[in-house]
This record gives sequence, C-alpha cells and structure tokens, in this order.
Amino acid sequence: EPKQLQELAELCPEGDFLTDEATRTKLSRDYYWYSPRLTPLLDPIIADAVIAVRSIETLKKVVAYAAKEGIPLTPRGAGTGNYGQAAPVLGGLLLDMRPLTEPLKIDRETGRLRATAGVRCQTMEEFARPFGWELPMYPSTWVKSTIGGFLAGGSAGIGSIKNGVLRDGKTVTAMTILDSSQPPQLHRITGADCLNYLHAYGVNGFIVDVELQLVPKLPWEQVVLSSPDAMKLFAFAHSLARDHAEKLRLLNFQQWPIPSFFIPLKKHYTEGESIIQLEVTTEYLSLILDKAESEGISVKLHLPHKEPRRAPMLSDFVQNHSTLWAKKEDPSYTYLSAKIDFQNWESAVRRLMDWKDPVFALRADFNQTDGKPSVAAGPIFKAPDTETLQKGERALQEMGIYFYDVHSPFLDRRGMETMHSSKIRLKSVRDPSRIFGIGKLAHEAPDLGSEMSKSW
Ligand code: FAD
Repeated sequence: EPKQLQELAELCPEGDFLTDEATRTKLSRDYYWYSPRLTPLLDPIIADAVIAVRSIETLKKVVAYAAKEGIPLTPRGAGTGNYGQAAPVLGGLLLDMRPLTEPLKIDRETGRLRATAGVRCQTMEEFARPFGWELPMYPSTWVKSTIGGFLAGGSAGIGSIKNGVLRDGKTVTAMTILDSSQPPQLHRITGADCLNYLHAYGVNGFIVDVELQLVPKLPWEQVVLSSPDAMKLFAFAHSLARDHAEKLRLLNFQQWPIPSFFIPLKKHYTEGESIIQLEVTTEYLSLILDKAESEGISVKLHLPHKEPRRAPMLSDFVQNHSTLWAKKEDPSYTYLSAKIDFQNWESAVRRLMDWKDPVFALRADFNQTDGKPSVAAGPIFKAPDTETLQKGERALQEMGIYFYDVHSPFLDRRGMETMHSSKIRLKSVRDPSRIFGIGKLAHEAPDLGSEMSKSW
C-alpha cells in the first residue's frame, strides 16, 4: 500500500529504499533461467520494493515494521542461486544484503574469521591468505557470491573435496540470526545448531553475521588432464578422490563436448577429449602428473600457483558454471542434479554417457561428505521446453539414478522434504510473524506448486 511504502522509505537512509521498476525486476531474479520449468513461472514475479541493507539497525527497523504489518521479506545476496531461491514469490520486500559489509575480523592464531552477511567470498579468501589461512570451501561464484547467500542457498564448492560440504558442519562455527519477533531479536547460534540455518533459504531467520573456521593456506597449482576415453578418465578422477583427497582443493570431470564450450580455454583442448580439472598442492603436483602419464592421460594445461589468485581460474569452469558456458553455446541447455554412488559408480556413469534420448554430457564434482569421498553429477542436455526436461528426468529414473529436483523454488521440494525438516520446524520459533522467505515452502505458494506438479 502507498502508506506502507511511504513509512518504510522513512525508516531507510536516503537512497536505500528503491521502488523503480527496473531495479525491482532485476533484483527479483536469480539464475532460475537455467530451468525451462522455472522461467515461465518466475519471470512475472516482482518485489514491491527493494531495500539496500547497509546496517543491522536498518534491518531491525524494517523487520519490525514488516512484522507489525505482515509484509513478506525475501533476503537476497548476489542472486546467483539456481532455483529461484531469492525470488520474492509472493511479492513484498526484497532485502539486498550486499551492502552489509562491516570490516572483516580474524583471529590470527585460531583462524576464526568473522564476516557480516554481505561480504563476498572472494574478499574473504583474499583477506585471509596474507594471515596464512584460506577458506575451507567457497562456491565457484566466489567473485559475486555473498557469504550469507552461499550459506543460505549453496551446498558445496572449491575445497569440498578436502574439507567436506556445507552440511558436514565443519565450516561455520557461529552465526548471528535475526528473528521476526516483535521487537526482532538477535540470536547467537553456535556449533551444530548452525546447521539449521545452512541451505534454509532464509525461511527461519536472517543471517546477520557468521564466524568461519579457516584452514591453513596452501599453494594451489591448477592442472587440466584429458583423454578421448571418457570412462577411463572418470575412473582416474575417481581414484584421485579415493586416494588423494587431502592433496586437492578441486577435482572436476567434464565429458566432451562440455570443454568445447569453455571459450577462454578451449584452444588448449582436443576435439573429442573429456577433461579433468584439478587444484593440487605444489608438493603433490609431480605425483599427480606421474600417475597421469603412467595411465596415458595427457596434461593440457598447467597454471602455476600465484598470489593473489587471478583469472584464469579453473573454478570458473566447474559446478554450475558448466551449464552457464553450455547455455552460451545453445540457450536450450539445462541440467539435472544426480547422486552417483561413489563405490558403485561405473554402471550409472556408463549408462549416462551412452543414453541417446536425450543425449547427456556429464559434469561431475568430487567432494567429501560425512568424511567419505562423494560425487555430485550434473548431466547437461538440451531441453528447450518442459516436455524435454521431463524426458531427461524420466531417463534418470529409468537408469535408476537418484536425482534432486533443481527445477523447483521450494525448500521442501521433491526428494528433499526430510533433509530440511528440522529447518522448517524451526521456522515457527524464529519467524513467529510469518514474514521470512514466504513462498519458499510448497504450501505457501499453492499456484506455483500445482504448476510444478503438473510438469512432473
Ligand atoms: P542468493 O542467490 O542471493 O541467495 C541464495 C539464498 O539465500 C536465497 O534463498 C536467499 O533468500 C538467501 N539469503 C541470501 N542472503 C541471506 C541472508 N543474509 N540471510 C538469510 N538468507 C539469505 N552453489 C554452490 O553451492 N557451489 C557452487 O560452486 C556453485 N556454483 C554456481 C555456479 C553458477 C554459474 C551459478 C549460477 C550458481 C552456482 N551455485 C553454486 C549456486 C549459487 O551460486 C550459490 O548458492 C551462491 O553461493 C549463492 O550466493 P548469493 O550471494 O548469490 O545468494
């Protein structure tokens, strides 16, 4: 309502309350356009206003007002989420958390780093290294991604092969969460309780600041290996993940033709050859190169360690960057998120590589989950419409490969209801005014939900 907009504008510093259509449209979007199912559903969605959050004081005032008036609030970092996590599904206010960047604080002895929610992951890594520390993991979108957005929307990244994925709980040691009680309260959360706020899309509280446990920094060499035999190369990557995870910060496999989409690097690659991208410590570089040579696997690229770390970074070609490069080649490319059993990978990988309708190209990122090696697969394929997307999903079902629904904006989306149930239960405690991340649970946006079910 105009009166509410007027009163909200008065709570914010000059210039931080934005209602122009261009800003509202731009910031109401994230990377959901990867999905032919989400694009038509989320394109029309637009916030009623955007607030640039520069201070905790302003955040508290806005949350207090929204709680009193029952206005939905959606937090947003850099908007690099892939499934509309940051889209204000039921309108209301979009809170741009990027300006919430107080100076970083580090304990040089213990490697504990405190950051407010808007700080970018790259800023944190570059701040930490001169003190002898590095981030245990960061998303491939580290240049843009905020730490609040990564913790609330991401899951794994560069470093996860050595230090585990977010839900292993070793990265975050404490966080400050703002609730929606009247007046709003800050809560200091520590240890395993932090898990309830990771990958929770902000439905159970706003992350205000976080404390991370850094790990001792190492020099990282970047290496690309290749072979025309995709199965042999995958087996090689698998053996590295099994035997040498401690020496790696990045281990990624890309089946041909994905490497041909990597415009800045493709001149180094050979037609028809799949690749492995690695970050390995200087100490173990020769071990990996000797092992590759003994198996007839070629070295295509070696980028020695340098500091500060600057492009070309292989991390720009892993995780969901593969889909981004593929979409530059042909906008109809999309992806699925499949779980491949680390021990019994062979038949699943072979079936994926051999499948004809649709034709998949396999991207795989190796991680550690619960202290054991794991592999996250993102098969990409051409799907200009929801019917072809569905065909791809059915193909995985026929192959007996479990997959997560990355074509839904809901936290409790198909296949993940149980995984997130404790976070969802906590919503009633931390969000008594029912204003946080409204529309991120399936029952809150029944129209979208029924459209999704129709597609399935
Ligand atoms: P946003 O997209 O803005 O927000 C993500 C979620 O967090 C939203 O639900 C939002 O409402 C919520 N949120 C934002 N700030 C707060 C806050 N302060 N408090 C509470 N909730 C908040 N993901 C990975 O895990 N690993 C990867 O390596 C990776 N690579 C990617 C590559 C590409 C090319 C793309 C497009 C995406 C990739 N992603 C990856 C997904 C995405 O980049 C990550 O989730 C990212 O770290 C999100 O950060 P962001 O600042 O953009 O958050």
